Amino acid sequence: MSASPEYPTDPQALTDADWRERLSAAEFRVLRQAGTEAPFVGEYTDTTTEGVYRCRACGAELFRSDSKFASSCGWPSFFTPLAGDAVIERRDNTLGMERTEILCATCHSHLGHVFAGEGYPTPTDLRYCINSISLTLDEAEA
Ligand SMILES: [Zn+2]
Repeated sequence: MSASPEYPTDPQALTDADWRERLSAAEFRVLRQAGTEAPFVGEYTDTTTEGVYRCRACGAELFRSDSKFASSCGWPSFFTPLAGDAVIERRDNTLGMERTEILCATCHSHLGHVFAGEGYPTPTDLRYCINSISLTLDEAEA
């Protein structure tokens, strides 16, 4: 992987204890325990900087800045992942809601949820609502 060498080479082999060592407490709670960060406080909520968003846990490329849009929902929102196999979807019935959870396909860390048919003026009418803390932005070379 061309990502920073601090990313794990075999992330699916890591135990919870390994992840706790690699991640901050807040990152662990979201990425490995499917937590949700508070809205409107995330580092990338309104970011329009050009670049590629990587999984903060394993470094996999997940989303591009050109598919990010201003949803006003309080979390970074994308209308499509960078590649269809970059993320995996899983039904999530927690909190009494029927939602679709989005996981990193490489390390199976929790990223957020995807919502469909909300009427946003995007090519897909999908909103990948992703926790800032699950992402690291690799800024494009100027
Ligand atoms: Zn990952």
